[in-house]
Amino acid sequence: MKVIKEVKSMQEISDYQRCRGKSIGFVPTMGYLHSGHLSLIERARNENDIVIVSIYVNPTQFLQGEDLEKYPRDFERDYIMCEKSGADYIFYPDDGQMYTRDHHTSVLVSTISDKLEGKYRPGHFIGVATVVLKLFNIAKPHKAYFGQKDAQQVLVIRRMSEDLNTGVDVVVCETIREESGLAMSSRNSYLDSRQKAESAELSDALKEAKNLILSGKARNSREIIEYISRYISTQAPLGSIQYIAVTDNKELDDVTEFTGYSGEILISLAVKFGNTRLIDNILFTKN
Ligand code: AMP
Repeated sequence: MKVIKEVKSMQEISDYQRCRGKSIGFVPTMGYLHSGHLSLIERARNENDIVIVSIYVNPTQFLQGEDLEKYPRDFERDYIMCEKSGADYIFYPDDGQMYTRDHHTSVLVSTISDKLEGKYRPGHFIGVATVVLKLFNIAKPHKAYFGQKDAQQVLVIRRMSEDLNTGVDVVVCETIREESGLAMSSRNSYLDSRQKAESAELSDALKEAKNLILSGKARNSREIIEYISRYISTQAPLGSIQYIAVTDNKELDDVTEFTGYSGEILISLAVKFGNTRLIDNILFTKN
């Protein structure tokens, strides 16, 4: 496995591998890897000749006052995990490589970027879409792998990739969870033991909500949002809810009435435990 720090070298390697007829799978990450990331790398390993993992904490997707400075980093540990999972290259640029001083261009995926996370983190998805397009142009993958854990991110990137004809196949991988049900996240390392125990309740609340919809016991989104709010306030009182949303899985439009609705339903939430902001979701089809 090789570590590549320069944009130009990474592009040359990808060009060379493409010329040799090799397929390239790409996994963009911000590092501090866990089993969720590894599941993406392993899937990429199974489906491609060459696997590139990028590790880059992208400053433009953090808002003022967010955790950019204290975002957890451990490159040596990440290196070992990437090697074990079968990566061929780690692309590990610094800010100077990724953003030259006269950087003027950014990518806005309109409408869907403004909903859910976008309301609480305005501008976040401009940073995400821009850096992912840059990374696509650097790693030149055939397929790129993303986690359903970040459901809105998947929709934004898929739309960006289609609208701008990147030719990259966006592959979505299921959310990997702790045994408790807590969705794995690099930010879980911020939680103390009580917060961690309570945050495991989020996935239970989502599962129960899904059952209420599929069994016909909940008829509209108001009942679901009330149910989840109550569940969290009793089972996870340290949590402070930012939003709970019941939407479709394309435009993120609200799904308000379930009677007669058939199609995908995405229930998403963001809850803060102290200063740590956790997101989770459940996606299912109602026939
Ligand atoms: P991050 O390093 O948090 O930017 O995440 C890099 C990629 O890993 C993104 O596509 C995430 O959606 C994905 N990811 C993060 N956590 C998980 C998880 N628990 N299960 C599956 N994928 C994940």
